[in-house]
Amino acid sequence: MKTSVVGYPRIGKTRELKFASEKFFKGEISEVELKNVAKEIRKANLLKQKDAGIDFISSNDFSFYDNVLDTAFLLNVIPARYKQLGLGETETYFALARGYQAEKGNVKALAMKKWFNTNYHYIVPEFEDDTEVKLNASKPVSEFKEAKALGVDTKVQLIGPFTLLKLAKYTGDKKLEDFKDKVTDAYAALLEQLGAEGAEWAQLDEPYLVRDLTDTDIKLFSDIYNVILAKKSSVKILLETYFGDIRDIYETVISLGFDGIGLDFIEGRKTKELVKEFGFPKDKLLFAGLVNGKNIWRNNYEKTLGELSELKETIGDSVVLSTSCSLLHVPYTLDSETKLTEDYKKHFAFAEEKLVELAGIAELADSSDAAAADAYIENQKLFAGRVDSKDEAVQERVAAIKDEDYTRLPDFFEREKIQKAKLGLPLFPTTTIGSFPQTQDVRKNRQNFRKGLITKEQYEEFNKKKIADCIALQEEIGLDVIVHGEYERNDMVEYFGENLAGYVFTEKAWVQSYGTRCVKPPIIWGDVSRKSPITVPWSKYAKSCTEKPVKGMLTGPVTILNWSFPREDISIKESTLQIALAIRDEVLDLEANGIDIIQIDEAALREKLPLRKSDWYSQYLDWAIPAFRLVHSGVKPETQIHTHMCYSEFTDIIPAIDAMDADVITFEASRSDLQILDSLKENNFKTEVGPGVYDIHSPRVPSVDEIVEALTKMRDRIEDSKLWVNPDCGLKTRGETETKASLINLVEAAKILRA
Ligand code: GLN
Ligand code: ZN
Repeated sequence: MKTSVVGYPRIGKTRELKFASEKFFKGEISEVELKNVAKEIRKANLLKQKDAGIDFISSNDFSFYDNVLDTAFLLNVIPARYKQLGLGETETYFALARGYQAEKGNVKALAMKKWFNTNYHYIVPEFEDDTEVKLNASKPVSEFKEAKALGVDTKVQLIGPFTLLKLAKYTGDKKLEDFKDKVTDAYAALLEQLGAEGAEWAQLDEPYLVRDLTDTDIKLFSDIYNVILAKKSSVKILLETYFGDIRDIYETVISLGFDGIGLDFIEGRKTKELVKEFGFPKDKLLFAGLVNGKNIWRNNYEKTLGELSELKETIGDSVVLSTSCSLLHVPYTLDSETKLTEDYKKHFAFAEEKLVELAGIAELADSSDAAAADAYIENQKLFAGRVDSKDEAVQERVAAIKDEDYTRLPDFFEREKIQKAKLGLPLFPTTTIGSFPQTQDVRKNRQNFRKGLITKEQYEEFNKKKIADCIALQEEIGLDVIVHGEYERNDMVEYFGENLAGYVFTEKAWVQSYGTRCVKPPIIWGDVSRKSPITVPWSKYAKSCTEKPVKGMLTGPVTILNWSFPREDISIKESTLQIALAIRDEVLDLEANGIDIIQIDEAALREKLPLRKSDWYSQYLDWAIPAFRLVHSGVKPETQIHTHMCYSEFTDIIPAIDAMDADVITFEASRSDLQILDSLKENNFKTEVGPGVYDIHSPRVPSVDEIVEALTKMRDRIEDSKLWVNPDCGLKTRGETETKASLINLVEAAKILRA
């Protein structure tokens, strides 16, 4: 059996690309030096895969920033405002990615969006009326040749035309339809060129196919590929899909002249069923995505071999074992982990280890007695149990959750009255989202403590001083609801993970998030519980510094789950409930310690919203929203629960957001139009709202007038008694000076409104 890898991580084993890019942006290294670093990364990646015995290895899976942006470049989809800068090719590329602000002009970066259901972000290409689609094949061609020179015959990975057209934005009168033919022709020409260069395979990634498709979409896809496949040169085409199943278009896809089709058997709930029901053509290769490209657990060989033999029964020998998606979404290698013991490590497979798995499984699939092989026996031992992963008390507690535990009483309107009377806040109460600037000294203090250079007492004393100063500042500014500033946190998920039993951490397990930035998600290893109070001492101390109400700050269970590597031995629903119970304990402790307002952030609630609308509730919201309610359902009526989301894209799930049953929700609104507020009104949204009145992602200080204007628009759509005044996200990435100036203006604006 042959093996295939959809794509490989490209940041470099020790994040070489990130560090080199940063140096390049600062002018510390030349373009040639940056390109050499990139070349070394590509070389190492290719040889790793080759040495592991992978048969289908991708080239052109590398990118300096993002491969959707690369595709825009490939087709000359470069908005005029960037071309007008008159920069060279590389500089133009980075101008689109990061914006440009220097002697030649001032242009913002293109928008960035989440890549399907991952935490990777792509750059949104923009088609303008005068966009002239023109092929510039130098990147895929040169990376193919480079690989060939290294002795690796690659399949050339490309984002497919359908996905590209669907993800792009059309800023003028011309729409997708108007660019379709040109784009199709460019791909056809590209394939011809690749064929001429000696490429045997091209892999066209069309993940958009796993979404809900309309008849128009299906026609668009067929139109494009009918042309491409009719013009087809010598190069074979692998149509690659991932992040779900292609139930809306499976029959069409298998009827077209592709040479190979990649299907996701991990996230594609219906993939197996589709293949069974509609069959699979004998003249094509099926690239079966059975090794999870997104998660970090070892593959269960018994299960995978079972799937493979079932597939063989239905469709014969033309099966290639593949990753379920690009390995971009997992870290490089376990070799870099020095602190985790073998007891833990043996259960994980990062990119390099997945190569070994692919080759190993393929070999077993060909053997007559796989179950007797050492590799198989060793593998199966992993699934008999894991050290430190079970906690019966936690499991019993989850099993004992009753329906009424998901409901807070009395109902919202009753509580609203009680809270208004108790808290006595003015109209348009002012507050912040929680964090204050994490200045150099704050980070240094944390690092020193981690390195053992200072004692716990010294570490805490410093933070207390910071909290006291932060509160004095908020009082001076005149904010109504005070926060402690979150100086003890590096990251809103890692911090809680570190303080919960059931988590493990890595040192170098970085995963690309946007550009060359990476995140290092913690791993949910076992049953999760709270070891001891986490934030209580800080909030208690903060409360002792002021007479004003102090808001306690927590991260919600859905966000904690979504920004971790989840378990595979229990459902993510079950894991989320365990986390919810742990955070619930913290909520109740905060309340018992006199904290009257508690914010439970759900910054990543939308992250795992299924790609198909039809699955939104049944596969996700139906348990995620109750899990959030479980966290706060035990508090007294007078305790006010806030939640926060970093975005306002919930127009289509407003009832679900309201059903979180928080008392107040803050979210981003300053950058988006106010459409969300119209929708809230239409939906009779009951929760009080704090739509961010200014954008904290920029150092700009908003004027009083500007904030008054934003608030005035909000008042047209939200009852005065429900409107809060706050920035749109935490202030930790901001400087101290602009933060103070901005908040002074914010409080002033609220006062003007009250008057
Ligand atoms: N409370 C967090 C903060 O203020 C929220 C962060 C976020 O929403 N991403 O930093
Ligand atoms: Zn936020």
